[in-house]
Amino acid sequence: MNKQMKIALTAIVAFVSVYFGCRKDPVSEKKSLAFRTNKLVIIVVDGPRYTETWGLTGRPLIPHRSEMLREGVLCTQFYNNGYCFTNAGHSAITTGVYQNINNSGLEYPQNPSIFQYWLKFTGSSSSKAWVIATKDKLEILSDCLDPEWQGKYRPMTNCGTAGLGSGYRQDTTTLRIVESTLSLQKPQMMLINFKQPDAAAHAADSLAYIQGIEDTDNYVWQIWQQIQADPFYRDQTTMIVTNDHGRHTAGHLDGYVSHTDTCDGCKHIEFFAMGPDFKKNHICSQPHEQIDITQTVAHLMGFRMPTANGRIMTEIFK
Ligand SMILES: [Zn+2]
Ligand SMILES: [Zn+2]
Repeated sequence: MNKQMKIALTAIVAFVSVYFGCRKDPVSEKKSLAFRTNKLVIIVVDGPRYTETWGLTGRPLIPHRSEMLREGVLCTQFYNNGYCFTNAGHSAITTGVYQNINNSGLEYPQNPSIFQYWLKFTGSSSSKAWVIATKDKLEILSDCLDPEWQGKYRPMTNCGTAGLGSGYRQDTTTLRIVESTLSLQKPQMMLINFKQPDAAAHAADSLAYIQGIEDTDNYVWQIWQQIQADPFYRDQTTMIVTNDHGRHTAGHLDGYVSHTDTCDGCKHIEFFAMGPDFKKNHICSQPHEQIDITQTVAHLMGFRMPTANGRIMTEIFK
């Protein structure tokens, strides 16, 4: 090869590597400048009242989260400003829109979800996004009725005993499935639902309600331990712990047993988050609401959600 050919070849190689180097991953290039988060897990503890979680003096029922706050962020004024039911609360989180949706799993959300937007944006396979829920009816979070999105970019699901219409299972089963999915499938987006303490409260079993708050606190801790023990997730994963709704304020209607309306007990919920991009040991007392999770997740993961309402919770970022 003569000198001119060598120069030409070198130029071609340089062009190709620069071209493909830039073209290959513009998102992660951009993201790497902004956020370290590239995986995200949302855990929805179904229906505890704020006065039994973070609002209880000394936080005796959530000792793990209370300890984890040293590495995380708590919003003390966080609300479901939409409909205080399970499917409405969950779909508000995943779509960023409050919708008075059927609560039995008979209706899909109108708007596309964080999973659909993320799968479309990244071109990832569906096994990289999961909805894992004790309640079978939450399988509706995997799709929507928007004709542009319906049936497309759907996350994988593992809900209830055997999918939509099959009934609830045990939260311990959900925890086991979460653990195996994280280790085998390596998803980058996941929403988890635990049916307790909600299911015990509806049965008016106050001891089991309290136990459900303690148990789910333990599950949150176990999931975070697994995340931080795995090099694929460690220091690049955001975990958000929240609720779909609270329960009636003590003394209002049947108190902790039910939830339906706009009393403070039903609306006031938890927002706790940990991850490489959040402040540590930080308590945010500015008012925020459920649909702010959606925009905050999209912002962290580097995509936009024009159909979602809500606002990015910028003050909790480092
Ligand atoms: Zn619920
Ligand atoms: Zn209420």
